[in-house]
Amino acid sequence: MTVNAQRILDRCDALARHSEQPDGLTRVFLSPEQHAAGALVRGWMGDAGMDTRIDAIGNVVGRYEGLHAGSPCLMLGSHLDTVRDAGRYDGMLGVVAAIECVADLAARSLRLPFAVEVIGFVDEEGVRFSSSLSGSRAVAGTFDPLLLDKRDADGVAMRDAMRESGLDPARIDDAARRPADVLAYVELHIEQGPVLEAERLPVGVVTAIAGGNRFDVEVTGMAGHAGTVPMGLRRDALAAAAECALAVERVARSLPEVVGTVGSIDALPGAINVIPGKVRFTLDLRAPGDELRGRAVAMLRGEFEAIAARRDVDLALTPIWEARTAACSPALQRQFTEAIHAEGVRVHHLPSGAGHDGMAMADLAPIGMLFLRCGGGISHHPAEAVTVEDVDVAARILARFIRQFTPPHR
Ligand SMILES: [Zn+2]
Repeated sequence: MTVNAQRILDRCDALARHSEQPDGLTRVFLSPEQHAAGALVRGWMGDAGMDTRIDAIGNVVGRYEGLHAGSPCLMLGSHLDTVRDAGRYDGMLGVVAAIECVADLAARSLRLPFAVEVIGFVDEEGVRFSSSLSGSRAVAGTFDPLLLDKRDADGVAMRDAMRESGLDPARIDDAARRPADVLAYVELHIEQGPVLEAERLPVGVVTAIAGGNRFDVEVTGMAGHAGTVPMGLRRDALAAAAECALAVERVARSLPEVVGTVGSIDALPGAINVIPGKVRFTLDLRAPGDELRGRAVAMLRGEFEAIAARRDVDLALTPIWEARTAACSPALQRQFTEAIHAEGVRVHHLPSGAGHDGMAMADLAPIGMLFLRCGGGISHHPAEAVTVEDVDVAARILARFIRQFTPPHR
């Protein structure tokens, strides 16, 4: 095998130097750093024997032809943009490892019955324009043109930033691929959670990218003097919200693989000597199946209503976001399982609670994901860490998967 794990890590380091700030890593959509990182990746793709291009939204695409030129492809990739003050593996590792696997094919002069493409997506994190998955949505043909009107913190619209980058916002559709041309989309990504570490495993097979619901919740009670209103006569909105937060925890714990979080809470008027009359909090709920997620939402609505009734407060639940579950192809999961076995590693399946480009790519092709253990489950943070041993195993599994890939039925 010629897969070189140290080179993968070195290249992640090299990409991390293309950052908005010198003492950390931030690389957002349509920035000079994006162009520099893209150029670097393109060079590596070329060295691995691939034809390269930048597509209509700025994704970097490399293609390694199969036995017959113009064959449909197995597409591998991840994203090259980051959150603010990011780690250096979330996204980049999947792109760089895929290039390494293609370099391995080229070194063996091996042509497969299908083409292999590697794609480095732009704007998965969506930091600059609060967009997210723009690059993969463009490839899947589901990019929403209304996003072009979104503005960054400096008031620059996405469409103008695209023009400044030499891209034509009217031609984003050109990035879309035909389903017949993409046999599957497969991504290696750090886990961003602590499960593989707890299982003492370097990799895991992803079953599904969890769907989610987000709500704004507003609780209205009655404000009053903290000294004069007896406990029995209070309609304390914050105490009710606290009970709701505990109900979220209870419901999520009662259902397998469901997670629920109250991440933000505001109490009004917000004074030490006033009973809170109004409270707003957020609710983020995720599940690896849509039926399960629907059940969790229904249970929570019931709990919230009961709490509101018992405490004589009004409670309004406003949906602000919803995403369906993107299931990973069972056939691709089986092929990953075989490749993991062949490398002598125990197979573990797990859902992804975080979103990934695969959510968008699922509209185009069957998707598969392989998770890599990361230190402490930490991500979106400079402390993000992987080991060269784990990267070596993961890259060998990915290389084996590619060589043995059989297109799943749709
Ligand atoms: Zn990511």
